[in-house]
Amino acid sequence: MSQIKLITFDLDDTFWDIKSVIISAEKNSRAWLGSRVSKKINWGSFEDFMSIRQELIKDDPRLTYDLGLLRQKTICHHLKDHIHNHHELEQLVDEAYKFFLEERHKVVFFDQVLNTLEVLAKNYTLGVLTNGNADIHKLGIGHLFNFSISSIDVQNNKPDPAHFKAAKEISGIDFSQTLHVGDDPLCDIQGARNLGINTMWFNLNGLVWDADNNPPNEFNHWSEFIKLLSLHYEQ
Ligand SMILES: [Mg+2]
Repeated sequence: MSQIKLITFDLDDTFWDIKSVIISAEKNSRAWLGSRVSKKINWGSFEDFMSIRQELIKDDPRLTYDLGLLRQKTICHHLKDHIHNHHELEQLVDEAYKFFLEERHKVVFFDQVLNTLEVLAKNYTLGVLTNGNADIHKLGIGHLFNFSISSIDVQNNKPDPAHFKAAKEISGIDFSQTLHVGDDPLCDIQGARNLGINTMWFNLNGLVWDADNNPPNEFNHWSEFIKLLSLHYEQ
Protein backbone atom coordinates (compact mmCIF):
# COMPACT_ATOMS: atom_id res chain seq x y z
CA MET A 1 0.00 0.00 0.00
CA SER A 2 1.47 3.33 -1.04
CA GLN A 3 1.69 6.24 1.36
CA ILE A 4 1.42 8.49 -1.68
CA LYS A 5 -2.08 9.35 -2.83
CA LEU A 6 -1.50 12.44 -4.98
CA ILE A 7 1.26 12.91 -7.56
CA THR A 8 1.72 16.40 -9.01
CA PHE A 9 3.85 17.10 -12.06
CA ASP A 10 5.63 20.05 -13.56
CA LEU A 11 5.24 20.23 -17.39
CA ASP A 12 8.01 22.10 -19.26
CA ASP A 13 11.32 20.20 -19.24
CA THR A 14 9.66 17.44 -17.22
CA PHE A 15 7.33 15.96 -19.87
CA TRP A 16 9.07 17.52 -22.90
CA ASP A 17 12.01 19.73 -23.83
CA ILE A 18 10.77 23.32 -23.87
CA LYS A 19 13.72 25.26 -25.33
CA SER A 20 13.43 23.74 -28.82
CA VAL A 21 9.64 24.32 -28.79
CA ILE A 22 9.92 27.99 -27.81
CA ILE A 23 12.72 28.71 -30.30
CA SER A 24 10.66 27.22 -33.10
CA ALA A 25 7.45 28.95 -31.93
CA GLU A 26 9.28 32.29 -31.78
CA LYS A 27 10.79 31.84 -35.24
CA ASN A 28 7.51 30.80 -36.87
CA SER A 29 5.57 33.57 -35.10
CA ARG A 30 8.01 36.20 -36.35
CA ALA A 31 7.74 34.88 -39.90
CA TRP A 32 3.93 34.89 -39.62
CA LEU A 33 3.87 38.46 -38.30
CA GLY A 34 6.39 39.57 -40.93
CA SER A 35 3.93 38.45 -43.60
CA ARG A 36 1.14 40.54 -42.03
CA VAL A 37 2.81 43.97 -42.03
CA SER A 38 4.28 45.93 -44.94
CA LYS A 39 7.56 47.11 -43.36
CA LYS A 40 10.23 44.88 -41.82
CA ILE A 41 9.79 44.45 -38.06
CA ASN A 42 12.91 45.15 -36.02
CA TRP A 43 13.02 42.24 -33.56
CA GLY A 44 16.43 43.17 -32.15
CA SER A 45 18.80 40.78 -30.41
CA PHE A 46 17.96 38.19 -27.76
CA GLU A 47 19.23 40.70 -25.15
CA ASP A 48 16.82 43.31 -26.54
CA PHE A 49 14.00 40.76 -26.35
CA MET A 50 14.78 40.04 -22.70
CA SER A 51 15.18 43.70 -21.76
CA ILE A 52 11.82 44.61 -23.37
CA ARG A 53 10.22 41.88 -21.25
CA GLN A 54 11.93 43.18 -18.11
CA GLU A 55 10.70 46.72 -18.83
CA LEU A 56 7.14 45.47 -19.36
CA ILE A 57 7.26 43.50 -16.08
CA LYS A 58 8.55 46.58 -14.25
CA ASP A 59 5.47 48.49 -15.46
CA ASP A 60 3.03 45.67 -14.68
CA PRO A 61 4.11 43.09 -12.05
CA ARG A 62 1.22 40.77 -13.05
CA LEU A 63 3.36 39.85 -16.04
CA THR A 64 5.72 37.82 -13.83
CA TYR A 65 3.05 35.14 -13.56
CA ASP A 66 0.90 35.87 -16.62
CA LEU A 67 3.08 34.67 -19.50
CA GLY A 68 0.21 35.00 -21.97
CA LEU A 69 -0.27 38.69 -21.26
CA LEU A 70 3.51 39.21 -21.28
CA ARG A 71 3.69 37.61 -24.72
CA GLN A 72 0.82 39.78 -26.02
CA LYS A 73 2.42 42.97 -24.68
CA THR A 74 5.76 42.00 -26.22
CA ILE A 75 4.11 41.46 -29.61
CA CYS A 76 2.30 44.79 -29.21
CA HIS A 77 5.62 46.54 -28.49
CA HIS A 78 7.04 45.32 -31.83
CA LEU A 79 3.92 46.16 -33.84
CA LYS A 80 2.97 49.54 -32.47
CA ASP A 81 5.14 51.48 -34.94
CA HIS A 82 3.65 49.51 -37.83
CA ILE A 83 -0.05 49.68 -37.05
CA HIS A 84 -1.52 52.93 -35.80
CA ASN A 85 -5.17 51.98 -35.70
CA HIS A 86 -5.77 50.77 -32.15
CA HIS A 87 -8.45 48.25 -33.08
CA GLU A 88 -6.36 46.76 -35.90
CA LEU A 89 -3.36 46.54 -33.59
CA GLU A 90 -5.35 44.74 -30.91
CA GLN A 91 -6.76 42.31 -33.44
CA LEU A 92 -3.38 41.43 -34.93
CA VAL A 93 -1.82 40.98 -31.46
CA ASP A 94 -4.68 38.65 -30.60
CA GLU A 95 -4.23 36.60 -33.78
CA ALA A 96 -0.44 36.52 -33.35
CA TYR A 97 -0.80 35.29 -29.79
CA LYS A 98 -3.19 32.53 -30.90
CA PHE A 99 -0.65 31.53 -33.56
CA PHE A 100 2.13 31.45 -30.96
CA LEU A 101 0.04 29.36 -28.58
CA GLU A 102 -0.63 26.76 -31.29
CA GLU A 103 3.11 26.59 -31.96
CA ARG A 104 3.92 26.45 -28.25
CA HIS A 105 1.84 23.29 -27.92
CA LYS A 106 3.82 21.42 -30.61
CA VAL A 107 5.71 19.49 -27.96
CA VAL A 108 7.36 16.09 -28.27
CA PHE A 109 6.84 14.04 -25.13
CA PHE A 110 9.89 12.35 -23.65
CA ASP A 111 9.94 8.61 -24.23
CA GLN A 112 7.59 6.66 -21.91
CA VAL A 113 5.90 9.72 -20.36
CA LEU A 114 2.48 8.92 -21.75
CA ASN A 115 2.30 5.23 -20.87
CA THR A 116 3.70 5.97 -17.40
CA LEU A 117 0.94 8.54 -16.82
CA GLU A 118 -1.70 6.10 -18.07
CA VAL A 119 -0.60 3.50 -15.52
CA LEU A 120 -0.37 6.06 -12.68
CA ALA A 121 -3.81 7.53 -13.45
CA LYS A 122 -5.39 4.19 -12.52
CA ASN A 123 -3.93 4.22 -9.01
CA TYR A 124 -3.30 7.82 -7.93
CA THR A 125 -4.85 11.25 -8.03
CA LEU A 126 -2.76 13.16 -10.58
CA GLY A 127 -2.32 16.93 -10.90
CA VAL A 128 -0.29 19.45 -12.88
CA LEU A 129 1.53 22.42 -11.31
CA THR A 130 3.07 24.64 -13.97
CA ASN A 131 4.66 28.07 -14.11
CA GLY A 132 4.10 28.06 -17.88
CA ASN A 133 1.03 28.26 -20.07
CA ALA A 134 0.80 24.83 -21.66
CA ASP A 135 -2.74 23.44 -21.60
CA ILE A 136 -2.98 19.70 -20.93
CA HIS A 137 -6.38 19.57 -22.64
CA LYS A 138 -4.90 21.07 -25.81
CA LEU A 139 -2.24 18.37 -25.66
CA GLY A 140 -4.75 15.52 -25.40
CA ILE A 141 -3.61 14.43 -21.92
CA GLY A 142 -6.23 16.27 -19.84
CA HIS A 143 -8.17 13.04 -19.15
CA LEU A 144 -5.18 11.66 -17.21
CA PHE A 145 -5.25 14.41 -14.59
CA ASN A 146 -7.70 15.37 -11.85
CA PHE A 147 -6.62 19.01 -11.99
CA SER A 148 -4.14 21.45 -13.50
CA ILE A 149 -2.89 24.61 -11.80
CA SER A 150 -0.90 27.28 -13.64
CA SER A 151 0.71 30.48 -12.35
CA ILE A 152 -2.14 32.57 -13.66
CA ASP A 153 -4.57 30.53 -11.53
CA VAL A 154 -2.72 31.25 -8.29
CA GLN A 155 -1.12 34.55 -9.35
CA ASN A 156 2.30 33.36 -8.34
CA ASN A 157 5.16 31.14 -9.51
CA LYS A 158 6.66 28.05 -7.89
CA PRO A 159 8.64 27.84 -5.59
CA ASP A 160 6.06 30.04 -3.83
CA PRO A 161 3.68 27.72 -1.90
CA ALA A 162 0.57 28.87 -3.81
CA HIS A 163 0.52 26.06 -6.44
CA PHE A 164 1.14 23.38 -3.80
CA LYS A 165 -1.47 24.76 -1.40
CA ALA A 166 -4.05 24.92 -4.19
CA ALA A 167 -3.32 21.25 -5.02
CA LYS A 168 -3.92 20.30 -1.40
CA GLU A 169 -7.15 22.27 -1.32
CA ILE A 170 -8.51 20.79 -4.55
CA SER A 171 -7.54 17.18 -3.80
CA GLY A 172 -8.08 17.16 -0.04
CA ILE A 173 -4.82 15.17 0.22
CA ASP A 174 -2.16 16.12 2.77
CA PHE A 175 1.35 17.20 1.79
CA SER A 176 2.75 14.09 3.52
CA GLN A 177 0.81 11.91 1.05
CA THR A 178 1.77 14.02 -1.97
CA LEU A 179 4.70 13.50 -4.32
CA HIS A 180 5.81 16.34 -6.59
CA VAL A 181 7.82 15.55 -9.72
CA GLY A 182 9.73 18.20 -11.65
CA ASP A 183 13.01 19.21 -13.26
CA ASP A 184 13.74 22.48 -11.48
CA PRO A 185 15.82 22.16 -8.28
CA LEU A 186 14.45 25.38 -6.84
CA CYS A 187 10.91 25.78 -8.24
CA ASP A 188 9.94 22.11 -8.03
CA ILE A 189 12.11 20.34 -5.50
CA GLN A 190 12.90 23.03 -2.93
CA GLY A 191 9.44 24.58 -3.28
CA ALA A 192 7.75 21.26 -2.50
CA ARG A 193 10.22 20.27 0.19
CA ASN A 194 9.65 23.53 2.05
CA LEU A 195 6.09 22.33 2.69
CA GLY A 196 6.98 18.73 3.59
CA ILE A 197 5.92 17.34 0.20
CA ASN A 198 7.77 14.25 -1.07
CA THR A 199 9.77 14.87 -4.24
CA MET A 200 11.23 13.10 -7.23
CA TRP A 201 13.67 15.08 -9.37
CA PHE A 202 13.61 14.59 -13.14
CA ASN A 203 17.30 15.18 -13.74
CA LEU A 204 17.69 14.62 -17.47
CA ASN A 205 21.03 16.39 -17.75
CA GLY A 206 22.73 14.76 -14.77
CA LEU A 207 23.04 17.97 -12.72
CA VAL A 208 24.78 17.76 -9.36
CA TRP A 209 22.50 18.49 -6.39
CA ASP A 210 24.26 21.28 -4.52
CA ALA A 211 21.43 22.96 -2.59
CA ASP A 212 22.09 20.93 0.56
CA ASN A 213 23.47 17.61 1.78
CA ASN A 214 20.19 15.80 1.22
CA PRO A 215 19.84 15.09 -2.51
CA PRO A 216 16.32 14.12 -3.62
CA ASN A 217 15.35 10.85 -5.24
CA GLU A 218 15.98 11.36 -8.93
CA PHE A 219 15.53 9.74 -12.33
CA ASN A 220 16.52 10.61 -15.90
CA HIS A 221 14.24 8.38 -17.96
CA TRP A 222 10.50 7.97 -17.59
CA SER A 223 10.78 4.19 -17.91
CA GLU A 224 12.30 4.20 -14.38
CA PHE A 225 9.60 6.20 -12.66
CA ILE A 226 7.12 3.52 -11.57
CA LYS A 227 9.90 1.26 -10.32
CA LEU A 228 11.38 4.10 -8.23
CA LEU A 229 7.99 5.13 -6.93
CA SER A 230 7.41 1.61 -5.69
CA LEU A 231 10.96 1.36 -4.28
CA HIS A 232 10.76 4.60 -2.30
CA TYR A 233 7.12 4.86 -1.35
CA GLU A 234 5.41 1.47 -1.32
CA GLN A 235 6.10 -0.84 1.56
MG1 LIG B 1 10.06 22.67 -15.60
